[in-house]
Amino acid sequence: MECAFTGKISHPCLVNSSKVLLYRRKEMRTQRLYPSTRFKVQVGFGKQGSSTDVGLEKIVWPSPNDEIPFWKKNFPSWDTGPAVPVDIKKDSDLMHIIHVTAEMAPIAKVGGLGDVVTGLARACLSRGHSVEIMLPFYECIQKQQITDLVLLTNYNSYHDGNWIPTNAYRGIVSDIPVIFIEPSNHFFKGRQVYGGSYNELEAYLFFSRACLEWMQVTGTQPDIIHVHEWQTGALPLLYWDMYTHLSLKKPRIVSTIHNMEHYGECRQEQLSKCGLDGSIYATTDKAVDDRTIGHNPERLSLLKGGIVYSNAVVTVSPTYLKETLNSGWLASTLIRSRDKYFGILNGIDAYMWNPAIDVFLPAKFHAERPKGKKICKYYVQRGLGLAPESTVAGHQVLDKPQKVPLIVCITRLVAQKGLHLITHAIKRTEELGGQIVVLGTASDGRVQNEFEGLANLHNQGPNVRILLMYSEELSHMLYAAADMVLVPSIYEPCGLAQMLGMRYGAVPVVRKTGGLADTVFDIDDQANRDKANGFTFEGIDEGSLNWALDRAFAYYREKPDEWNGIVQKIMKIDNSWNNTAGKYIEIYGSVRLKC
Ligand code: ADP
Repeated sequence: MECAFTGKISHPCLVNSSKVLLYRRKEMRTQRLYPSTRFKVQVGFGKQGSSTDVGLEKIVWPSPNDEIPFWKKNFPSWDTGPAVPVDIKKDSDLMHIIHVTAEMAPIAKVGGLGDVVTGLARACLSRGHSVEIMLPFYECIQKQQITDLVLLTNYNSYHDGNWIPTNAYRGIVSDIPVIFIEPSNHFFKGRQVYGGSYNELEAYLFFSRACLEWMQVTGTQPDIIHVHEWQTGALPLLYWDMYTHLSLKKPRIVSTIHNMEHYGECRQEQLSKCGLDGSIYATTDKAVDDRTIGHNPERLSLLKGGIVYSNAVVTVSPTYLKETLNSGWLASTLIRSRDKYFGILNGIDAYMWNPAIDVFLPAKFHAERPKGKKICKYYVQRGLGLAPESTVAGHQVLDKPQKVPLIVCITRLVAQKGLHLITHAIKRTEELGGQIVVLGTASDGRVQNEFEGLANLHNQGPNVRILLMYSEELSHMLYAAADMVLVPSIYEPCGLAQMLGMRYGAVPVVRKTGGLADTVFDIDDQANRDKANGFTFEGIDEGSLNWALDRAFAYYREKPDEWNGIVQKIMKIDNSWNNTAGKYIEIYGSVRLKC
């Protein structure tokens, strides 16, 4: 590839590489759940060993009037589990993989990207590979969630004519080594991962280069650099056109596209700020955004550049792969890249998402001992004011609320997620005599206003709760409480909510698109009876949603035995990374430089 290097990197100065211990290991793990206790059904926070058959009276039932909402209580810390589970077979051809990403769960998670990076990294670690994650050191990251945090390196990285003093820290998150990049300028400052008062495009251009610069100054040469989304789309360009002309020779680049909607619009002069000559990339076969050809100015797409310059490109489900080859302005680029373009279904982190050990649940459960799910449902209903505050004397009290189907929708509130179908589902669920909880965040003010209006209208009533916030804890409890999980997306590259819901025994009701079509198979579809695990619909109109929702409610009420059978079946489905990480390993192995 043509060298487009113009940046001055002759004196990247490594100021101080000595390790400085910043934070002593925190006593984070107040409670460990050892393998032998994992499948005991437990009641109450921190009361290990009790079974769901006893101790109901020990649960402190929450109320909407509680001073501290039930999802904000002090929970025992996660034991993230062994990074290397004994039952996972180790690979023979071991590699060093570095993920470069804007998100990682749980410390910097906005949506599925964070879950995927953490889950895939843990799965590859457990197969014996050496894995690290490089992440901006966002100011909003809670440092108590990081163990063994140390300052690794002071160095300088280039941005817009200046060398910016930068720190690289190393710490452990969920048993995964993470390298945090902290520039001394204003980038990544603010109270949230995205939307700080700095230029996001420039900050991620800086980050992309700062990661390579760190590898260069520390002599780190992984087999694979795995980049994610538009934010790190410039890294493959920087690697091939700049850093391979310096000392980085070994790494090969794998790029995962989690959502084609975000393509990293970038003007040529903006790209030049990271030290490349932006004008060199303004061609159809490189990074020009094809839709802007003939416009003044033509723009670049970091996502497209990343596709062109990566050794392998993955998207997050086989159906989304087909959809992206058939439509959208990137289709021609992807068709040209067909030989290196793969569709691999995302997995879920089966340890962090496990109702048998989940620290956020008032009662644990699993497919063979599902009773704790009833308790979770009643607990959430009580806490949200969806069930009367009667005394809980025995199991009968749990039975009445069970008759009312509870559906949850946990999502970013953006057009992609089918906003009009979510609002319609609220209405339809009420008409059908069910209950619905929407947990979501809106970045668009108009959407926020619309849902605030709905919350004001419904939240004092007996059947609907619209909670406009982000809460990891509450999301776990809602999946555990739900009879159904709704995912009515207009398009969905993969979707985790339906897989998480299934793991917690919530039957999915989804629109058949992208990864939803790869993971949910309609109960009334005779052709797929073996796989049947939920309710699907195809249209984007309200009638189509009604068709799926009405059938789900009818099954729930009229065929309880069949329903319980489905609940058991979906809890046993293995949608974990253990199932799919091997496909990534194959791709890594096929592109790595074999010496
Ligand atoms: P996307 O990546 O498009 O947001 P996914 O379904 O792939 O959608 O992943 C969404 C992830 O974010 C899931 O883990 C879901 O539970 C979580 N999530 C979405 N909204 C919220 C919220 N308001 N509070 C807690 N978790 C949320």
